[in-house]
Amino acid sequence: MSNGLLIVLSAPSGCGKTTIVRQVMRELPGLEFSVSHTTRQPRPGEVDGVQYHFVTEPEFITLRDQTPCGFLEWAEVHGNWYGTSVAEVETRCRAGKDVLLDIDVQGAAQVRLRANPVTVFIVPPSLAVLEQRLRGRGTENEGTLAKRLNNARMEIAAIDAYQYLIINDRLDEAVESLRSIIIAERSRQRRDRGGVPMRWQS
Ligand code: ADP
Ligand code: 5GP
Repeated sequence: MSNGLLIVLSAPSGCGKTTIVRQVMRELPGLEFSVSHTTRQPRPGEVDGVQYHFVTEPEFITLRDQTPCGFLEWAEVHGNWYGTSVAEVETRCRAGKDVLLDIDVQGAAQVRLRANPVTVFIVPPSLAVLEQRLRGRGTENEGTLAKRLNNARMEIAAIDAYQYLIINDRLDEAVESLRSIIIAERSRQRRDRGGVPMRWQS
């Protein structure tokens, strides 16, 4: 059995990534979502182990500093720690599942060094629309909203490092784009530059 794909998705917070991923996962079999660890507080309705593994800072640091490192990648985002545990992706990838990673641009750069991911960046039609969506979601106060909008500018500057770009204007079109990318990548014969069909490297 060949290893599954690692699909890295990045987007400024509030752009619609979670909404798109939820819909694509409903429509496309064989996709698994990598549940990250975070020190951020759960939002109303978020369940431990579903959206995130919610951990304390000491718990996060223990996993980060163990040998070998318990994380495939980790980063500080908007003042909280986030990381993808090796356990979360390795077994599934090796079992041939395609795993979706919803991670920021710093994490994506680390995954590129260790594996051969498919990388997708999702942007809003404009920063004004992004602000509307973040406000509409109702999860941020003025402080965290400003931090996320500021970060969006920095994240958008990293677009060139990604293989695919999706503009989330109309939701149905953005969902169709991501679905199509994954279907096309599943049909690719060779992913690495050396010609060896290798999708995961620990
Ligand atoms: P992210 O996961 O990127 O932080 P969310 O998926 O939580 O973003 O989306 C932020 C808000 O924008 C939500 O309220 C969602 O319903 C809304 N939204 C997402 N995509 C669209 C779209 N294409 N058009 C209008 N609203 C959208
Ligand atoms: P949120 O707090 O809105 O759920 O996520 C904030 C940001 O953290 C988003 O850009 C999201 O992609 C990123 N993020 C979520 N999980 C991880 C992770 O495991 N690693 C990294 N590097 N970023 C993550």
